[in-house]
Amino acid sequence: MTEYVSNDEMAGWQCGHCHIPLVIKPVQIEYLGSAFPVDLPVCPQCGLVFIPESLALGKMAEVEKSLEDK
Ligand SMILES: [Zn+2]
Repeated sequence: MTEYVSNDEMAGWQCGHCHIPLVIKPVQIEYLGSAFPVDLPVCPQCGLVFIPESLALGKMAEVEKSLEDK
């Protein structure tokens, strides 16, 4: 599985509601009608999924590009 988030990038992230560290979990995200399993930081208590800017911007653009190429 592709890792979108490095441990270094994860350092210091915590849930804004629970104020506890986030954990990396496989999450199914949907984009342009397709579902992609990615490892994302999730709050183990309330289940909030944190989507990093690198994924929301850069990686999503890559996903969109790879779809268009096909
Ligand atoms: Zn939480």
